[in-house]
Formats: sequence, C-alpha cells, structure tokens
Amino acid sequence: MLRLNEVKLPLDHTEEQLTAAILARLHIEPAQLAGYTVYKRSYDARKKSAIVLIYSLDVETTADAAILRANARDSHLMPSPDTSYKYVAQNVNANGAQPRPVVIGMGPCGLFAALILAQMGLKPIILERGKTVRERTKDTFGFWRKRELNPESNVQFGEGGAGTFSDGKLYSQIKDPKHYGRKVLTEFVKAGAPEEIIYVSKPHIGTFRLVKMVEAMREEIVALGGEIRFSAKVADIEIDEANGERQVRSLTLADGERIATEHVVLAIGHSARDTFEMLYERGVFIEAKPFSIGFRVEHPQSMIDACRFGPNAGHPILGAADYKLVHHASNGRAVYSFCMCPGGTVVAAASEPGRVVTNGMSQYSRAERNANSAIVVSISPEDYPGHPLAGIEFQRRLEEKAFALGGSNYSAPGQLMGDFVAGRPSTEFGAVVPSYKPQVQLTDLATILPEFAVTALREAFPAFDKQVKGYFKHDAVLTGLETRTSSPIRIKRRDDDLQSLNTRGLFPAGEGAGYAGGILSAGVDGIKVAEAVALSMAAKD
Ligand code: FAD
Repeated sequence: MLRLNEVKLPLDHTEEQLTAAILARLHIEPAQLAGYTVYKRSYDARKKSAIVLIYSLDVETTADAAILRANARDSHLMPSPDTSYKYVAQNVNANGAQPRPVVIGMGPCGLFAALILAQMGLKPIILERGKTVRERTKDTFGFWRKRELNPESNVQFGEGGAGTFSDGKLYSQIKDPKHYGRKVLTEFVKAGAPEEIIYVSKPHIGTFRLVKMVEAMREEIVALGGEIRFSAKVADIEIDEANGERQVRSLTLADGERIATEHVVLAIGHSARDTFEMLYERGVFIEAKPFSIGFRVEHPQSMIDACRFGPNAGHPILGAADYKLVHHASNGRAVYSFCMCPGGTVVAAASEPGRVVTNGMSQYSRAERNANSAIVVSISPEDYPGHPLAGIEFQRRLEEKAFALGGSNYSAPGQLMGDFVAGRPSTEFGAVVPSYKPQVQLTDLATILPEFAVTALREAFPAFDKQVKGYFKHDAVLTGLETRTSSPIRIKRRDDDLQSLNTRGLFPAGEGAGYAGGILSAGVDGIKVAEAVALSMAAKD
C-alpha cells in the first residue's frame, strides 16, 4: 500500500477526477490501480471562490515497489505507515493475585483508559461520581430549563465526562507518533460515530451522537469483565508510606465503602475541585498551572460562513465555518479563541451552586443560528500566587461574581460587544439573540474580570476584525464567564512510568491532571496511562 499526499482537487470534483488524479500522479495505467481509501481530507479556503480539497490517500497498486522507484522524486509518495494499534501486554494478572486496577472518572480519558485495560484483559473497576449518561442528560437539561443545579450530575460530572454535551470536536495539536488518536477515532466509529471522523481534518460529532457512543463503549467494557459504578464518588485515598516510598493501597467512596487497589488511573477532569483538595491534603504532588478566562461570544453563523467561504458558504462538504483567532495585547497578554462551536449554543456549565460558568455545544448538523466561541485571556500562577490550589479559588471568585451579576438565579451576565469595548453597560439586544439558557441578563461585564483582562479584550475585539471581517460587531453578544478553559493545577507525573511524582500506583491523567486539553487528547492520554498501568502490573506478576 502506498501513501500519496497532497492530491488537490476542486471542491465539486467527481470520483472519476480523483481516480484520474491518482493515475496522473503515480504515472500508472488504470489496470495497475487496485483501489484506494482516503486517509485524510482537508481544504484550503484561502481563495474563497476556488476552495481546494487536499487528500492524503492510501493507494493499492499491483506493483508498489516499482511505482515507488519510478516516482522516487515525489516527496509526497511513500509506503503507507502501519497505524494500527498494538497492545503492550496480554495475560497480565491472569491469576488475579493483584487487586484490580481502578479508573476514577468516566470522561474520555477514563473511558479510554478503562476500554484499553478491559481489552487487555485487566478487568478494571470504573468509579464515576455522576449518573449514567441518560439520567445525567435529564439533570443537565433540567438545570438549563428550571435553574436547579445538581452538583453531582451536570455538564461536568457524569458518564461521558465534560465533553458529552459539546460540539464533539475531535482534533488536537498533540504530537502522536504512535497514532493513538487513530485508535480513539476508530473506537468511536465502532461505537456509532460517523465514519468520516477518521479522515476529515476537523471531525466533530455533536451532542446526541456522543450520548449513544458513550453507552456503546460502556457495554464493551462490561462485556470484557470491567465493572462500572455510578454515583460512586471517591472521597479519600489511602497512601501507605514505607522506606520513603508512598504507595496507593485503597480508595474510599463517599458512602464509606473501601476498595483495595494498587493501581489508580486518576481521570477526574478539571472541575473536581473537592477531589483536588483531598489529594492535596493526602500529600499528592500538585502545582499551580496557567489557564485562561474570558467570555463566550456569539455572532450570526451566516456572517462567519460568508467571511470564510465567500460564494461557497453553505457547501455541504465545508459545513458551518469555524474560526481561530489570536491577538497579542500591548499589556503582554495573549487573547485567543477557544472551543469554537459553529452553529451551536452557549451552555450553562456550572458544577457548584451559586456560580455561573459558560461553555459551548452543538449538534452534528451545526444548524443553529449563532456561531459561538470562548474569547479568553491567558493568566498564570503569578496572577493567583501563594498556594498550589490558589487558581481554584481565583476561578470560584470570578464564577460567584458572574452569578451575582446575572441576578443570582443562574442567568448569565451579558453585554453587547460594542458596549463592552466602549465601556458602557448594555440595556437592549440587537439582531443577535443569545442562546444561553436559562437566560442572559444584560449588564456591564467589565466589572467581573480583572483590569488586565478587560484591557486586553477591549483591544482584541477590534483587532480580530482584521482576521474575520465583521467580527467587531456592535450587537455580537458576550456572555460570562469562561473560567474552565483548562485545569488550574497539574498533578505531576514521571515521564517514564506516568506515575505521580511522589505516589506510586497513582496515574494522574487527562485534563484535570494537566495532561490533555480536549476530548481527543484526553482519550489519547487515557490509552497511554492504561499501557503504563498494564506494564506496572506485568512487572509485579
Ligand atoms: P472529564 O471529561 O472532565 O471527566 C472527568 C470525570 O471524572 C467526570 O465524569 C467526573 O464526574 C468524574 N469525577 C470527578 N471527580 C470524581 C471523583 N472524586 N470520583 C469519581 N468520579 C469523579 N473538547 C473537545 O475536544 N471538543 C469539544 O467540542 C469540546 N466541547 C466541550 C463542551 C463543553 C460544554 C465542555 C464542558 C467541555 C468541552 N470540551 C471539548 C472539553 C472536553 O470535554 C474535555 O477536555 C474532556 O472531557 C476532558 O476529559 P477528561 O476525561 O480528562 O475529564
């Protein structure tokens, strides 16, 4: 099989044109082409009226070696690399002499850690503080409609983790030499995701499909001998100290049950603040890390489509357009777009009572009227000095201010972009109708963020207009507050065996531990950590 990159064709090309392009690039006759599959497809929209599709293809021919030799000068032609997943161990703990590994959290990181452990025959126990994805959906939609927050079952907590009610974007900038990302996508397709996620450059799934996929993956884990327990919050961890070495011995659930284990995947996400505090008290090494704060911004999706795709706006292959923006403000802060959701809605993402947090989600169709994205300002531990967990208190204070400014009833505070930049409170919406439920309360958002963030954002919005024409739009709506862009802490682990810096048997993983920043990277980290657990257990067999 040959990998042929950089095959470029117009947006509306036919299958015959693609075949002809392969034949021409390889200088072969039709009889020599046995077939092909698309490995990746992206587009170049720099010329809006002539958008080009760019393919990477896996081509089957009747004479690979000869064709490679004949096209030796084509740097975009090579033997197809083997991207299939290889398990690092089998038959580990076959006699059951060691306690079973435990995975805490069933977000993408925990889900993939548990799946890989189960596929290797290690029969993990998964402890998830929230409910099953169906029950959790009721609680989450209930919060959005009735303003009743369940602190253990919401956008952040429950089966599927934080990304379940999301845009389901499945791409990442991580280095992935072992093609773990492909394993994640392949498992998602097995669980019901559309096959295109394997090859399109910016795949996404949307909320409702994610719900079904999570259930299918749960069934596989259980069928392989895994045990999944919901409403099972880990409230304590027993760490044995002997000869200067700390080793995990057991976990205690909120209801008092003790579970003996010596291998724990800690995949608790970035919102498990009570669990972070418990781990800190038990002496697990934690340090503060940078994150970002800001607002969700909504524009008409049609405006973003027209700006990015011109006459090709609305083309089914392109779908709803996204954008990516960065501005380096004169006060030294970076302002950037984060988790952009084309054709989606802004959602209430709080997990603690009396606090307001925003995020974004969409369905697979991305057909809602507004485009939304977080526009955030980078902050670092110098902004919340003193204690490794100080970033959490910083987040809490901002979320409380947002709750109060919204009217203390889970409405979110909002403002028109033009008014925010001009420094006056908003009193009336324009053409952009905000999508956040239960409601957006117009006010002056400058009062809830630190001065440096307000200054940087006021500079960035007009500057973004140069990158996406029309972006600095008076009646675009800002909704507050984005505080959970990434974890405010890092639970540091060793590079070699992925165990906590000072606690053996504890494998910090995913977004909460500071090792992932999205669904795909969290899934990839779950795979890496599952391998580390298997190798550690194999060494003790
Ligand atoms: P999480 O998904 O946060 O999962 C952690 C799990 O641990 C939770 O289910 C929680 O209940 C459980 N837990 C916590 N503490 C305990 C405890 N003590 N005991 C037992 N269980 C516990 N990313 C993308 O890549 N694309 C997107 O489109 C996207 N959209 C998003 C939209 C929204 C609304 C949100 C909130 C996030 C979105 N993200 C998106 C981010 C993405 O969801 C996260 O990066 C990802 O879920 C992190 O995975 P994780 O497994 O590390 O943690």
